[in-house]
Amino acid sequence: MTVTHSILLKAAAELMQSGATPTVDAIIASNPQGSTQSWAGVFRKLLAQRTTLQTGTIDRAAFSIFAKGNSKLPFYAFSSMAILDCAGYGECGKWCYSKSAWRNPNAAGRQISNSMLLRHEAGRNLIAGQLLKLPKDVVFRLYVDGDFDSIETLRYWMELLKQRPDVQAYGYSKSWAEFLALELQDYAWPSNYLLNLSSGSRHPDSMRDLMAKLPITRGEFLAVPVERHHIKSGAYKSRRADGFKDYAAAVRKNASTKVFVCSGQCGDCLPAGRHACGDAKFRNVPIAIGVH
Ligand code: SF4
Repeated sequence: MTVTHSILLKAAAELMQSGATPTVDAIIASNPQGSTQSWAGVFRKLLAQRTTLQTGTIDRAAFSIFAKGNSKLPFYAFSSMAILDCAGYGECGKWCYSKSAWRNPNAAGRQISNSMLLRHEAGRNLIAGQLLKLPKDVVFRLYVDGDFDSIETLRYWMELLKQRPDVQAYGYSKSWAEFLALELQDYAWPSNYLLNLSSGSRHPDSMRDLMAKLPITRGEFLAVPVERHHIKSGAYKSRRADGFKDYAAAVRKNASTKVFVCSGQCGDCLPAGRHACGDAKFRNVPIAIGVH
C-alpha cells in the first residue's frame, strides 16, 4: 500500500484520537510481515503504543522522544506531527519542510508517536521524565516539526521548562492564538525559552504585533524569495558553501527590512557555538532565509 501524505495524515489522526482506526489497520494488513523499517511495521508499533497509553501502562515510547542533533542542528530537539499539530498553519502548509521527513516511515513515526504522547497524561509524564534527565545546560529546540497544538500543550511545555532553568530552549511557532490566550491569563513565562515568529501563519499582522511584545519573543524569522539558482546550488546551506555571499546579498536585497541572514548550520551560526535564533542578544533582530 502506498502511504501518500493524505493517507499518512488520516492514519496519524486516527491514532491521536480514540475510536476506530481503519486507515491504520489497512496499512498494517497490506504488509503483515513488514519489518520495523516499513510503514506497516511503524504503524504496528504505534497501534500497540495507543493501547498502553489508553490503559496508562506505557513505560517507554515506541520511538525516541528527543532527537540528538546533527551538524545542521547540533541540539536536543522535539517534534510532533506536522500539519495536524500546527494550530496556526496557513500559507506555510504549501512549502512545509516537515513533509520531506515523511519519506522515511520512522521519521514520520516519531512525529506521530510524540503527538500521541502529548494527548495522554501517561505520555506527558514520560516526556517530562526524559526532559528532566537531559544533560545540564543543553540547548533544546522545542519543535522542529509540528507546533503547540493547544493552550494546554503550550502551558505544559512552559511549566516543564521552569523545572529545568539551565536548559536553553528556543523555537519557532505560528500558534499565536494559543500564546496570546495564555498571556491574557497573566501567565508567568519561563526565562529559558525564546520564540521566533516565523512566516506563513494564518494570523493577521495585528496578532504578530502583539506576539512581538511577549517577553519570550526574540524576533522574526522570515522566509524571503530569492532567485532559484541560489537554492539549486545549495549556497543557502552553509556560510562556507560556494556562492553563500551572493545568496546572502540576495536575501538582504529582497527582505523588506535589515536582516541577519541565516547560514543554515545552527552549530556554525555564531562564534563560540552561539546561535542567533536562541540568543537574547538577537532580540528584535529579524533573521531571514531564502525560501527553499
Ligand atoms: S539563524 Fe542561526 S540558529 Fe537560526 S536557523 Fe539559521 S543557523 Fe540556525
